[in-house]
Amino acid sequence: MSNINLDILVRKNVLDMNSYSSARDEFENKKENLVFLDANESPFQNDINRYPDNKHTYLKQRLLELNQLSNGQVVLGNGTDEILDLIIRVFCDPGCDKIITIPPTYGMYDVIAKTNNVENIKISLKSNFSLNLGEIKKSFSKKTKLLFLCSPNNPTGNSFSRKDLIDLIESFNGVVVIDEAYIDFSSNSSLVNLIGKYNNLIVTQTMSKAFGMAGIRLGMGFANKKIINYLNKIKPPYNINLLTEKRALEELENIDFVKSNIKIILEERDKLIDSLNELSFVEKVYPSDSNFILIKVDDADLRYEQLIDRGIVLRNRSKELLCDNCLRITIGTPSENKLLIKNFREL
Ligand SMILES: *Cc1c(COP(=O)(O)O)cnc(C)c1O
Repeated sequence: MSNINLDILVRKNVLDMNSYSSARDEFENKKENLVFLDANESPFQNDINRYPDNKHTYLKQRLLELNQLSNGQVVLGNGTDEILDLIIRVFCDPGCDKIITIPPTYGMYDVIAKTNNVENIKISLKSNFSLNLGEIKKSFSKKTKLLFLCSPNNPTGNSFSRKDLIDLIESFNGVVVIDEAYIDFSSNSSLVNLIGKYNNLIVTQTMSKAFGMAGIRLGMGFANKKIINYLNKIKPPYNINLLTEKRALEELENIDFVKSNIKIILEERDKLIDSLNELSFVEKVYPSDSNFILIKVDDADLRYEQLIDRGIVLRNRSKELLCDNCLRITIGTPSENKLLIKNFREL
């Protein structure tokens, strides 16, 4: 079902509405010679007294270039989290439609579903953290509008096979959202180049992880123009602020720096996995395709507290499905990782 009727999936109120428009929209290209007395801004120049470009033209161009996509195929959000929320609000009628998620996975899908009063059907991963294709497909119905797949998955760290992901995109009667927050650390390639082929595919990425800019809050959603138009329709017009846009453009000039940092993280990941495997209380180190490692220990609560006493904070994921006694460790700098292992050895 690679070409599904999107207009049927979209909420009627979204189909029928117009987006917010400002007078400024019409004058974007002739800014220099005009006096703007239209938006109740302060007239005193300080670089940030004007509203930002609500089309984020330059930033989008750069991001599309990077992903070899064309105009109209990206939406920007205040972090991926805002984009995930926009997606649910475009497609799911509260109290009626449903989403499908695959726990253990990123916690925000459930939070956003609850916020919007949308039921979340949870289909557990298999014990080896792969997708349970049969069960996922059984959960498809007229009401299931969205399927959220996070690959590489947080907190398990593994990627799902490209074949399985495509199988689900092809068999789902709704929209598949592939969350690629960790794709830059992965040996698998992005599915972003498939958005032209499958009109029910949205790929999200973020500046928060490999690009090192969690503080500016910038997330990207890639999809066909039609989906992007729906998302833009309901998006707060000035959700990306001037400082974020400026900083992101600066950093994007320096992709080599980002790449060299990714390389360091991947080298550190290998070293950390080896060292963790040598610890007596570590029962399992799960393979990682991301910038964190999930480990199973003898007593996660105990080890977690012991490390906090030593000034190191990990993420205790032991309450999550399939994650009994599991801790999630973000790869730090070489010296931070050394310190972690030193402290672990002393326990
Ligand atoms: C960290 C993370 C994100 C990033 O969210 P932002 O709002 O862009 O910071 C998205 N998805 C997953 C699975 C994550 O772990």
